[in-house]
Amino acid sequence: MLIILKSEATQQQIDHLIERIEGLGLKAHLSQGTYRTVVGIIGDESQLAGTPLEAIPGVAQVIPVLPAYKLASLEAHPQPSVVNVGGVKIGGGHVGMIAGPCAVESYERMDAIAGAVRQAGANLLRGGAFKPRTSPYAFQGLEEEGLKILREVGDKHGLPVVTEVMDPRRVDLVHEYTDMFQIGARNMQNFVLLTAVGETRKPVLLKRGMSATVKDLLMSAEYILARGNPNVVLCERGVKSFDTDTRNLFDVAAVPLAHTLSHLPIFVDPSHATGRPDLVPACALAGLAAGADGVHIEVHDCPEKALSDGSQALLPSQYAELASQLRELAKLLGKQLSPAPQPARAKSGT
Ligand code: PEP
Ligand code: MN
Repeated sequence: MLIILKSEATQQQIDHLIERIEGLGLKAHLSQGTYRTVVGIIGDESQLAGTPLEAIPGVAQVIPVLPAYKLASLEAHPQPSVVNVGGVKIGGGHVGMIAGPCAVESYERMDAIAGAVRQAGANLLRGGAFKPRTSPYAFQGLEEEGLKILREVGDKHGLPVVTEVMDPRRVDLVHEYTDMFQIGARNMQNFVLLTAVGETRKPVLLKRGMSATVKDLLMSAEYILARGNPNVVLCERGVKSFDTDTRNLFDVAAVPLAHTLSHLPIFVDPSHATGRPDLVPACALAGLAAGADGVHIEVHDCPEKALSDGSQALLPSQYAELASQLRELAKLLGKQLSPAPQPARAKSGT
């Protein structure tokens, strides 16, 4: 970290600053130019967390040299991380394909959608049992019953499952049923929840908040990593914008940007990013072309009857067509779609 002092900083202020730095067990390297004095800090900068250096008299500017998201940074881990979700690899050339309805609605519906998306090439099944709805009067999810259905259907079709956890008090319950936690956009900065999933070792799909920067997303990932859970996958799902023709603004640049800053894999979710099934295929392909490690897409066999997000869901046939294009593109990019595990029935030999 570099601290640039004001041109009028007095010797007394410089001495005070150095005393504060050394008092925290760090070394200060003083460099006095003709017009400006710069102090370089050497040592474990985490000692400085919570010290408002800018507020020390005489300080003009503080320039961090290392990012605050230490564990999520590329410096900490120069190779791309590979996260294993129930046997499906994500990252480092392995592409994840999460598909399924927005919400778990019934066993029959989940079973039909899972069969279709598995056949199309999906390797992970999604479905919300706890839904973060904007309106308190909208369908809130089947809760534990939904988790049971998702688990059962996932096992039947050989698809590890992903589902949202919204409340730190439900982390243990969701942990019992899921292969991957989803932290939704609205909870990206729910630090108590991030800490709670960080205390498990279960993979976490961390969605970008709708008004969060990519660096904010990495700071949230840091909360999970700092508790000892290394299995974090980021997800770009669109940010708020002024254009009302799409649900959000799909920030495709977030994908290569995240890869320049972090070793963590990143998914794209063109369903929530655009809110329109006619725009989903182009944005899914663009995301993969931009370097995404996976694609997260909502699929429903009867969107007009869906209990949530029906207006953005692809039909299974549309998903199948897109999945085959994604497979071709992955091949061109030298990547491969991770194979889904064997269905439970085949595994037990019955
Ligand atoms: C979802 O995946 O259904 C969802 C609610 O996503 P987001 O948190 O990105 O809005
Ligand atoms: Mn949804």
